[in-house]
Amino acid sequence: MIEQVQLNITYEVVSSLEELTPQEQQVLLLAQKATDNAYAPYSNYLVGAALLLSDGSLHQGTNQENAAYPSGLCAERTLLFGVGSNYPDKIIEMMAVTVRRRNESHFLKACSCGACRQVMAEYQNRQNAPIRLIMQGEDGQVIRLKSVEDLLPFMFTKDQL
Ligand code: ZN
Repeated sequence: MIEQVQLNITYEVVSSLEELTPQEQQVLLLAQKATDNAYAPYSNYLVGAALLLSDGSLHQGTNQENAAYPSGLCAERTLLFGVGSNYPDKIIEMMAVTVRRRNESHFLKACSCGACRQVMAEYQNRQNAPIRLIMQGEDGQVIRLKSVEDLLPFMFTKDQL
């Protein structure tokens, strides 16, 4: 017998930044501003990430490249590892990701890589509370997700160990 199973994900496409909550706007704008600090001399692909902790504090991260390419790291993980190191007991309430090319002001569609999704999943499971996600979409749109599960369905967690 073979049973077919479907996993559904849900996300919202918000037509513009102005339609987000003021708090969401704040986190997304910080992620956009963070792209100024990206160290991406090889790809010129500037990624900024920002998050809001349960104590109300905001934090940012950027991609950090390296001449030995695999030694670099994505913005999402520089941010999450930094926050995980410095604020291990705080809940991550939401996280935003943005990207643009060097010398261009408009933002591109942001889509976190598989490794970053796995790290987001780890932190969400660690805090046992959903991390809301805001990703820059196309043409000024914003993609909004209620939880990392919607970005990484069928995720690997400590329960599989
Ligand atoms: Zn990544």
